[in-house]
Amino acid sequence: MPRTDAVLADPRLGTAAERLGRALVKAAVVRAQERARSGEIPPAAVADAAVAGLPEHATTLRPVVNATGVLLHTNLGRAPLSPAAREAVAAVSGCADVEYDLATGRRGARGRGALEALRAACPAAEDAIVVNNNAAALVLAATALAGGREIVLSRGEMVEIGDGFRIPELLAATGARLREVGTTNRTTAADYAAALGPETGFVLKVHPSNFRIEGFTAEAAVAELAPLDAPLVVDIGSGLLAHEPLLPDEPDAAGVLAAGADLVTASGDKLLGGPQAGLILGRAEAVRRLRRHPLYRALRVDKLTLAALEATLRGPEPPVARALHADVAGLRERAERLVKELSAHGLAVDAVDSEATVGGGGAPGVVLPSAAVALPGGYERPLRERRVVGRLEHGRLLLDLRAVPPAEDALLERTVLAAAGAVAAREEG
Ligand SMILES: *Cc1c(COP(=O)(O)O)cnc(C)c1O
Repeated sequence: MPRTDAVLADPRLGTAAERLGRALVKAAVVRAQERARSGEIPPAAVADAAVAGLPEHATTLRPVVNATGVLLHTNLGRAPLSPAAREAVAAVSGCADVEYDLATGRRGARGRGALEALRAACPAAEDAIVVNNNAAALVLAATALAGGREIVLSRGEMVEIGDGFRIPELLAATGARLREVGTTNRTTAADYAAALGPETGFVLKVHPSNFRIEGFTAEAAVAELAPLDAPLVVDIGSGLLAHEPLLPDEPDAAGVLAAGADLVTASGDKLLGGPQAGLILGRAEAVRRLRRHPLYRALRVDKLTLAALEATLRGPEPPVARALHADVAGLRERAERLVKELSAHGLAVDAVDSEATVGGGGAPGVVLPSAAVALPGGYERPLRERRVVGRLEHGRLLLDLRAVPPAEDALLERTVLAAAGAVAAREEG
């Protein structure tokens, strides 16, 4: 058995150690030695096996192809960044002028470019700040505007966003008291008005972004709540800055501010298509109160987020918007092209119609017609292990193309072919 030091002297592993760090390379060597010890590979092949077993990156986070048909998949990192945003992140990942004015040599306003881009994209907002995510935006608003007093909200909007994250619990954790008004299915402006008093911090409206109630329902519109004698904060969830005709029921920041809200909070990595961030837009005075609160310092974002957000706002249409607007005929063509290529290699595949959704990020109940490559269910695991995640439906694996950028079709094809080998080997074995 070759000694670890001797294997590490292999120049390929030396180069890798500079890129990945010695610990990760050594771990690959140890794994290769174990395989040799168990007789799986000859001792002479240890260095080659270690090279083959090196991780691609010094992180265990790995890129994934999202073929689930869910545009915003929280478990898969929500919105993929646009090429412009990725470049911007890479460009400022060293030192950058995040809080330094190169013209004067003095300290500069942190994240000014991103905030200017945000205000330009949403002129209805007098001012804006950016925090870590929408949950942080709500915490900051609750702390700065309610400060242990009451937040008035509808019983129909006491929502759970996912994985046990409940907005009422988050708000209560700040020390604010929740003043519930109305009922699960019906709440009117009069219900809110009756609850206001000296203990009111603000009125909060929350968009139920992952469910819909139907039937005998009523909710108070933003325009009805704006005249009430209390600040009005609206959590729109998805981060649409302007109205999106394809998603008629999804609230947008411009519309909500025009209707009279003081503050809007939203996520940066849902329908806006940018990095994880919490956007807070609205009246100058309300935004100033949040920016001046000591908690803001704990929730602010870093240069990578600022760069990605600004490039998302100023750059070309991000992948989420493209996926949303992609026409189904184009998706079918892509599915048919993939099926033709894969069939030529002898695979039993079909191009089928499919139904995509926006996902937990918004627009519950909206079905987006889509197209998919359908494979036998046995492909699910080998593809997942090769970082392509599809959707099982009636025993078949669908690779829905709506959330897959067209530039990833070639990767998808190569990966299916590689998985076909594994499927065939398992059937033989
Ligand atoms: C997603 C969502 C949140 C949480 O946003 P994060 O950016 O994930 O913290 C809060 N409110 C609503 C209505 C949402 O849809």
